[in-house]
Amino acid sequence: MLMLTLSTDIMKISRVGAATAKKLKKLGIATARDLLFYFPFRYDDFSEVTLIRDLRSGARANVVGRIELIQSKRSPRKRMSVTEALVTDGTDVMKVIWFNQPFIARNLRVGDRVSFSGKIEDDYGVFAMKSPAYEKIFKKSPNSPLRQGYGGQVPFVKGENMDAVHTQGLVPNYHLTANITQKQIRFLIKRVIGLSEKINDWLPEETRENVRLLSLGDAIKKIHFPKSQKDIDAAKRRLSFDELFLTQIQSQMIREDAKSCVSAPVPFLEKETKKFVDSLPFKLTDAQRKAAWEILRDMRKDRPMARLLQGDVGSGKTVVACIAMLNAALSGGQALRRGSGQAVLMVPTEILAKQHYDSICKLFNGFDIKIGLVTRSEKKVNYESEIMNKGLKSKKTKKHNSLFIIHNSNIVIGTHALIQENVEFENLVLAIIDEQHRFGVEQRAALARTDARAPHLLSMTATPIPRSLALALYGDLDVSVINETPKGRKKIITRVVPEEKREKAYEFIRGQVKAGRQVFVICPLIDISDKLGVKSVKEEFEKLDKKVFKDLKIGMLHGRLKPKEKDGIMRDFLDNKIKILVSTSVVEVGVDAPNATIMMIEGADRFGLAQLHQFRGRVGRGEHQSYCFLFADSDSEKTLSRLRALVDNNDGFALAKMDLKFRGPGEVYGTAQKGFPEMKIASLFDYELIKSAKEEAEKLIKKDGGLDGYPALKEKLGEWRKKAHLE
Ligand code: ADP
Ligand code: MG
Repeated sequence: MLMLTLSTDIMKISRVGAATAKKLKKLGIATARDLLFYFPFRYDDFSEVTLIRDLRSGARANVVGRIELIQSKRSPRKRMSVTEALVTDGTDVMKVIWFNQPFIARNLRVGDRVSFSGKIEDDYGVFAMKSPAYEKIFKKSPNSPLRQGYGGQVPFVKGENMDAVHTQGLVPNYHLTANITQKQIRFLIKRVIGLSEKINDWLPEETRENVRLLSLGDAIKKIHFPKSQKDIDAAKRRLSFDELFLTQIQSQMIREDAKSCVSAPVPFLEKETKKFVDSLPFKLTDAQRKAAWEILRDMRKDRPMARLLQGDVGSGKTVVACIAMLNAALSGGQALRRGSGQAVLMVPTEILAKQHYDSICKLFNGFDIKIGLVTRSEKKVNYESEIMNKGLKSKKTKKHNSLFIIHNSNIVIGTHALIQENVEFENLVLAIIDEQHRFGVEQRAALARTDARAPHLLSMTATPIPRSLALALYGDLDVSVINETPKGRKKIITRVVPEEKREKAYEFIRGQVKAGRQVFVICPLIDISDKLGVKSVKEEFEKLDKKVFKDLKIGMLHGRLKPKEKDGIMRDFLDNKIKILVSTSVVEVGVDAPNATIMMIEGADRFGLAQLHQFRGRVGRGEHQSYCFLFADSDSEKTLSRLRALVDNNDGFALAKMDLKFRGPGEVYGTAQKGFPEMKIASLFDYELIKSAKEEAEKLIKKDGGLDGYPALKEKLGEWRKKAHLE
């Protein structure tokens, strides 16, 4: 028989054929080691079986019983199928309900013994489980009580006598695709679990002792085959620590590096700043003042600033950024070669870049500041007359050249085209990134790229990042928060609109347009798709243009239009020529259209809460009462309760937190994208563990900056960096 080792190919493990191996490879499992590191995401607790008569609604429970009745029917109104079963264990009867899984009525038959695990609800006086985990139980012993019927007897006690393999004790559940079953993967992991003892623990002994963690081998064994919840907790704690610790080691190393980095100190120009603030058509909020001051204070130092400016949509981050840019642009820049300093503002979309350019040019009207715009399709500057005076008129092509703009402007606004142009700023003292969660780490690094001198870095986001998450993702980042919106804004009235009230919503829209207002309609897709029922921009545009609002001018906006077309449409919308704009999520970030009062979102259940909140933030920017109408493709209770969170909540922070629960940080913060380490198991809300990971990392890097005394850790860090695309 073959000796299994950690690097044994899964093909060599008995019962794994080529087809299964291929499927496993899709999950990233190629060796025995990969299997061990494929962690479950959930456990079904079958260690306690509750009698139906002892159930309590609201609690989770495991019930084992016999199916008395099972049937599937279609619910015509809701366009779905409902499967209902009655189950008894001899003490009472329980109802089990599944939605849209008609095949269950073929799998389970009257008389089958089944083990169920799920939440108990009260269904008109009868206990009910909705969509529980279940497993048919087969008995091998002919004498088992199951075979003997159980007229009134208590049939099962604490899972004894059950032959269930997959519904006994704490049973791990793995994220699976590619037609691998839970049972298959459990079987395979069981085959190799003995190898966990051979795993080399890369965590320094001292760290393990300080934080009181399991050894790696132990943790692996317990994560797959726990005997108790305590086992699971201890294993998770060790494995979470690993992920957090690596992130912290990485950021400690970057911090050490940054210590040797200098940046040009930007003195606070009191007079000019005051002049700018006084020129604004509104009074800054206290929160804006405080944030601006924190930023300016950082920029006065000769160490690079690393600050995150966090503020809900409409809280007025742009103006704060302008104050920072003003000071940077007018800073003499002692260390700089040419005249004054430069600031760059990088944004995620062309539309937003353009809009920022226009509004920032206006804001800096009375100042001698040269501003340039660099996107893929458009390059321009606000100092053309000056160029003409200098006789550069003939060099028209050059004027439009990014190199020229980047070398001659005090403030450059642009998209990631700025990075692709590969032009180096000569006097960059401040780099600002708007809606930073959309950019990967390496893009931020590219902007900040200059030899020994690093610019001050300010990231701005409307998607709030909890302190613990910022710490986990960025090591340590200073955070300024604008926690107050300008006065006088009306609350946006939000409604989840059922399909039968659609016509009414259209009527309402017609009334608003008549009163001079404008409307956004957001759809999840561009093209009509084969995904039945998912609304697309093109389809909705046709419908509204040809049928519903024949008499109104409708526009269509999506990422596949040419930049020129996009601009034209956006301009027509801002000029109130287009009344209704049907769009994909491209309008999500930043776009400012104060005359728009209705945000109508199709397929709202397909977006995250934080994103929906961003959409909603596109209206309510002017003086008029604004509305947000949410249409969902599904009317399941889960969907509705998620969307209702938007109706009840106007706080982006709270919504982002809920989002994290529903969808996880990868989706919400784009951490799944390149450049962010993947957290498979660590909770980004485990503040205590994050803190100890940080402290341990600090200690270790202080002691041995190159990690030369810890070769196993060093090797692990290398692998991890590769995975996170950090090298
Ligand atoms: P966001 O934080 O979402 O980027 P913006 O910077 O785009 O918000 O600001 C939203 C709108 O609020 C802009 O039209 C801006 O001019 C306006 N604004 C910013 N600060 C104030 C303020 N203190 N009082 C009134 N309006 C303000
Ligand atoms: Mg903004």
